[in-house]
Amino acid sequence: MLDKKSSEFLEELLITPSPTGYESGGQKLWMDYLSEFTDKVEADAYGSAVAKLTTSSDVMTVMLEAHADEIGMVVQHISDEGFIYLNKLGGSDSTIARAKRVFIHGKEGRVTGVVGNTAIHLQDKKNGGGKQPEWKDIFVDIGAESKEEALEMVQIGDPVTYTDEVEYLNDEIITARALDNRIGGFAIAQVMKRLASVRKDLKVNVIALNSVQEEVGGFGARMMSYRHMPDAAIVTDVTHATDSPGIDSREHGLVKLGKGPTVQHGGANHPAVVAHIESAAEANKIDIQHEATSVRTGTDTDSIFYQRTGIPSALVSVPIRYMHSPVETASLNDLEKMIELMTESVLAMAPDQTFTTL
Ligand SMILES: [Zn+2]
Repeated sequence: MLDKKSSEFLEELLITPSPTGYESGGQKLWMDYLSEFTDKVEADAYGSAVAKLTTSSDVMTVMLEAHADEIGMVVQHISDEGFIYLNKLGGSDSTIARAKRVFIHGKEGRVTGVVGNTAIHLQDKKNGGGKQPEWKDIFVDIGAESKEEALEMVQIGDPVTYTDEVEYLNDEIITARALDNRIGGFAIAQVMKRLASVRKDLKVNVIALNSVQEEVGGFGARMMSYRHMPDAAIVTDVTHATDSPGIDSREHGLVKLGKGPTVQHGGANHPAVVAHIESAAEANKIDIQHEATSVRTGTDTDSIFYQRTGIPSALVSVPIRYMHSPVETASLNDLEKMIELMTESVLAMAPDQTFTTL
């Protein structure tokens, strides 16, 4: 299980808002942490960050990737009465937005608001009141009496996040806002820490990349993988645990919480990299689950694998329930196993490792 310092780092990452396009808070923490045990840490213009462990100039380089951003909302409009209308940043779900507390991250600091929820007694049921709202129906009350008063605290374009923080349901199960994908950034940091502690066994160069702007199209990963052009990539993100009520496994497959990280097959996932990860799992007795992708992985893997002349890539994921909600829920055992899986996959790579299908 995680040691105290690691758990503290995870919790700090989770409570530091990093909505898409505004990731600098989380990225600073991540870079600080990684600078303690890696050879070099740097960021690009848009704020994607890399940390490097360099073994030699004539061995292959593997990249470990996660995305740093979380979904959120953005201030779209302020009414004359001082109510704030939102739009989504990434795939936020308007149907769960009402009756929540939010932080608006303004230039002058954080402003607390509540998302208005018309009382059940007052809902205009005939005209759609109480039905599943769209973003245009969602408004935030920050206690301002007018547009002018609201504008003293917030402005159009300020990012917004839910206030929810970290809780544990028991020793194993963690729930928080933004487990997607702060646990990925945490995982690659832990992998680098472990690799740094067994430096003599490491035969390849390793770059950990924590990318911005995944939730709106995988843009940070695209910029940074083009820049660094590794010989292979292992990407980590969260995936859907489909073992809570109401999900049809015939349509979505069956992935269970607490039964290990998943390895994905198909699409951008290079069969030889997938096979390498599966053999590392087998050699180290790490239980894994399998999932299939039909067209796209829906992760940064899609942005990385086709850069320049191609980067053999594979996706490993931590299952979470209730993705893209403020109560995302994961198993710390799955997280621990995924860190082990990535660490062992890198340690099993040879200096001249190549991945081909023919
Ligand atoms: Zn994600």
